[in-house]
Amino acid sequence: MELHFLGTGAGMPSKERNTSAIALKLLEERGTIWLFDCGEATQHQILHTSIKPRKIEKIFITHLHGDHVFGLPGLLSSRSFLGGEDTLTIYGPAGLKSWIEATLALTGTHLTYPIDYVEVTEGIVFEDEQLVVRAMPLAHVITCYGYRIEQKPLLGELLVEKALALGVPKGPLLGKLKQGHDVVLETGETIYSANVTAPVKEGFVVTILGDTKLCDNAIRLAEKADIVVHEATFDAETAHLAASYGHATNVEAATVAKEAHAKNLILNHISARFLPNDIAKLLQQARAVFPSTYIANDYAQFELRNKEFKHLE
Ligand SMILES: [Zn+2]
Ligand SMILES: [Zn+2]
Repeated sequence: MELHFLGTGAGMPSKERNTSAIALKLLEERGTIWLFDCGEATQHQILHTSIKPRKIEKIFITHLHGDHVFGLPGLLSSRSFLGGEDTLTIYGPAGLKSWIEATLALTGTHLTYPIDYVEVTEGIVFEDEQLVVRAMPLAHVITCYGYRIEQKPLLGELLVEKALALGVPKGPLLGKLKQGHDVVLETGETIYSANVTAPVKEGFVVTILGDTKLCDNAIRLAEKADIVVHEATFDAETAHLAASYGHATNVEAATVAKEAHAKNLILNHISARFLPNDIAKLLQQARAVFPSTYIANDYAQFELRNKEFKHLE
């Protein structure tokens, strides 16, 4: 699993930071990419990466502010031009579907693929045998959600030699054992999957929050997460402004990660008021509260492999 930040700015783009978009690359897990928010010109940002728009399987929108959605019509249209045929599922607050449909209709945009819309409310918004995504409302100036993406436990690999030694014949029974099923041999003997497979491995937990002031739901969503992505529109000196604008400071984001006992924190949604020279200080202030903090710049990539976290840039 990798997180690839396509835009990390707040409100409007600057030369350093485009507006919000994060790609959750699940290429090894399911051969697809999930996008979280889609600020204006996200498709231009994507051009500087190896991401293929037709690989985008799902788009999760945190809230309907322009800096999080204005890139959708263009990206949807290009995904079509680039040969996308697979269904795209878009998750977001009420109103997102009618905005997209009106925009596509008024501009005469015909897509080569179907879109499924899921109107997000609190609770599980997606689940399959591999992953589950939960949403909870945050505390912004309009309805805004945070998402918690949990990978289900991974089956341990099959210990083939051990299974063969116990008399399991080569063939489909080995596959069943690998998938966690117990099998009965012709002799009537039961072979338990747990005895011939390595221990189950814990999956990853990634929490991606939308714009918010400090709130309890952010902590709940971030509970023991491997990675928490939290906005940091303000810093310690401008903290008096944060809550009234429905935003958080770097230090508040660090507090959320700390109280949630999360493992790593990535700050995004950085205001253009902070110049590149200020970033070290932003990071230092947050690390004083939560040491394992990182700041995402545009195109930053972070990897989580076997629960090992790595900043790739
Ligand atoms: Zn925003
Ligand atoms: Zn906002």
